[in-house]
Amino acid sequence: MVKLKHYIAVSILMLASIQVANAGAIAKWGAGGLGTGATISWSIMDAGLACELGPEPAGCVTSSLDSFMPVGYKSEIERAFDAWSVVADLTFVEVLDQGEDINVPSASGIIRLGGHAFDGVGGVLAHGYYPSNSPVGGDVHFDSTDVWKIGFGGFGFDIFQVMAHELGHALGLGHSDDGFIIPELPPGPALMDPFYSEAFSGPQAADIAYIQYLYGVAQQVEIPTPPTMALFMIALVALKTRRKA
Ligand SMILES: [Zn+2]
Ligand SMILES: [Zn+2]
Repeated sequence: MVKLKHYIAVSILMLASIQVANAGAIAKWGAGGLGTGATISWSIMDAGLACELGPEPAGCVTSSLDSFMPVGYKSEIERAFDAWSVVADLTFVEVLDQGEDINVPSASGIIRLGGHAFDGVGGVLAHGYYPSNSPVGGDVHFDSTDVWKIGFGGFGFDIFQVMAHELGHALGLGHSDDGFIIPELPPGPALMDPFYSEAFSGPQAADIAYIQYLYGVAQQVEIPTPPTMALFMIALVALKTRRKA
């Protein structure tokens, strides 16, 4: 059974998430349980891959990130991975994408990054799939029709900030105001708030506590474990701007 949820808040963005039953379960990567680390591969999808699936747009075809992001975007994406791996027991390994359509099991990264047209400027910015054993589990897509920038200020959306937020979902984090929250998170603004913000950069205290709850604290010496796709949920979370009334 598929459940559709919409949250509308007073800030500038809206979240829509679609998930199968068992909402409230926490999915994570790695062979261990809560509080244990994971090694997770990632890759960047090229253009021309079919991405029509479930909640994706009809006729969805990927565009390369090169085609709609500014030069230097990849460093921002890498910075987003680093922002989580410096605080939690996570190791990310980039691999070559194999070019399969998004719903085809592949040797590409567990987390595949790509772009496709969503809904023009504003609206949905990006979306990420929670961990699951579906081929799209952990994948993150950016709206190729939005304006992407590096750094805060001016028009557009900061690649690092949005990537770090969506990567949070790809790692199993829900929004700070939804039912996936763990008890007693530190108060204050959070990267996993459902709204794009330039008031801070990257994971905040609540985000760090949350990711460490799932994966444990960052280790000085990594003990590699084979990546295992965990658990039950297939969910899509979209980061959206609120439509002006
Ligand atoms: Zn998508
Ligand atoms: Zn989100």
